[in-house]
Amino acid sequence: MKAMLLRGPKQPFELVQMPDPTPGPGEAVARVITCGSGLTIQHVKAGRRKTTFPRVIGHEITGEIVALGPGVAGLRVGDAVTAYFYLICGHCRFCLSGLEPLCTAEGGNVGIECDGGYAEYIKLPAHIFIRFPDALDWKAHPAEAGVITDALATPLKVLRRADIKAGETVAVIGAGGGLGLHQVMMAHWANTRVIAVDVAADKHDACRKAGADAVVDPSRDDMVTALRDLTLGDGVDVVVDYVCTTATLEAGAKALGRRGRLVVLGGAAQPFQAAARHMLQYEQAILGSRYVTRADVLAACDLVARGEVRPLVSEIRPLEEAETVHERIERGAVTGRAALRIG
Ligand SMILES: [Zn+2]
Repeated sequence: MKAMLLRGPKQPFELVQMPDPTPGPGEAVARVITCGSGLTIQHVKAGRRKTTFPRVIGHEITGEIVALGPGVAGLRVGDAVTAYFYLICGHCRFCLSGLEPLCTAEGGNVGIECDGGYAEYIKLPAHIFIRFPDALDWKAHPAEAGVITDALATPLKVLRRADIKAGETVAVIGAGGGLGLHQVMMAHWANTRVIAVDVAADKHDACRKAGADAVVDPSRDDMVTALRDLTLGDGVDVVVDYVCTTATLEAGAKALGRRGRLVVLGGAAQPFQAAARHMLQYEQAILGSRYVTRADVLAACDLVARGEVRPLVSEIRPLEEAETVHERIERGAVTGRAALRIG
């Protein structure tokens, strides 16, 4: 099969021929149709996320099951699938409780600790594949369908994790990024008032189009003051921080109002200080939100199938142009998600 291989960190992609994967016991192989390209996997290419090489990256796939190994139940050849991002065990207490991101025997990520979707075929443990709901027209928009598993499901999970209710005010830090823009979209869908926070002025229009009611540029204005002004001094109900530097986290915590929740996702994951007195006095909370459950992926697929929301894939290029796509991701030049067309 044709694959885009990384031989090491900070290396260019190499288009290679690899043996077609054959499924072992409990495994399945899918033909890859499209695969999303975002910052999470660019971190691997850039060497910011460590793994072993050579590696085929990519996890936001739309594919079709072509082969099943012995002992696989619940999947059939011809099924249209995407992939769950974490290599979960499927059997621990957390997997069985619908809290799969907390799996105690997790083996890393698809496309990082095992080969992923930048190839004609992908082999995974069968339970890592997620069958698309029948109502989802994945054939019409395969690239959009493929990115639901991360770009859209992650923001949906945040709505659930922080118990975000209609009418609340939600500030999204890093709103111009791939996940941030989809968070704006999902928070708007949830009937909240959305404040987009991003230093990239060229992404502000996209934030407004995705549903932001107001935009704050921390390179021009003090974030805490701006968020307090926009809420007439009350502070925001929820801050979702996709950047997670010490500065953004501390500003986010200070911008919270009564019963405010600060949601911490990946990003720089730096340490920060928050005032325990405010946490107590105003009953505020800090919440980590780690990826999504498989049920969240299905729920996000259902929302797309019903036409409630649609992932923003702004550029779709052939697999051979992966290098160009990743250069653009590294520069922050992509709006929403990019995707590669493979099969
Ligand atoms: Zn588990």
